[in-house]
Amino acid sequence: MKSEASPQTAPRRHVPQRTCIACRETKAKRELVRLVNHQGEVLVDPRGKLAGRGAYLCPYRECWETGLKGNRLEHALRTKLTLENRQMLVEYGRNLPYRGDTKG
Ligand SMILES: [Zn+2]
Repeated sequence: MKSEASPQTAPRRHVPQRTCIACRETKAKRELVRLVNHQGEVLVDPRGKLAGRGAYLCPYRECWETGLKGNRLEHALRTKLTLENRQMLVEYGRNLPYRGDTKG
């Protein structure tokens, strides 16, 4: 199954949508943070440039906490998180605002 969207020119009205693995909300790709399984290590990929299987989370602490709990992310990325790797991602999530903070 190959679906290579060529990031060429072609201004399309269609905005690529992705689903947050935590809250399951569908949003424009650029409103989500990409996580990528890069050679067995899960990295945060804010620019979406790294090759590998990706998963998306909202830039909110709640979603990171939910997403990193259990094996949700591991399942989405078909990998195993090491303790260190998970910790690194948890740390990243700690720098994000709570969803509740953003309104008003
Ligand atoms: Zn979310």
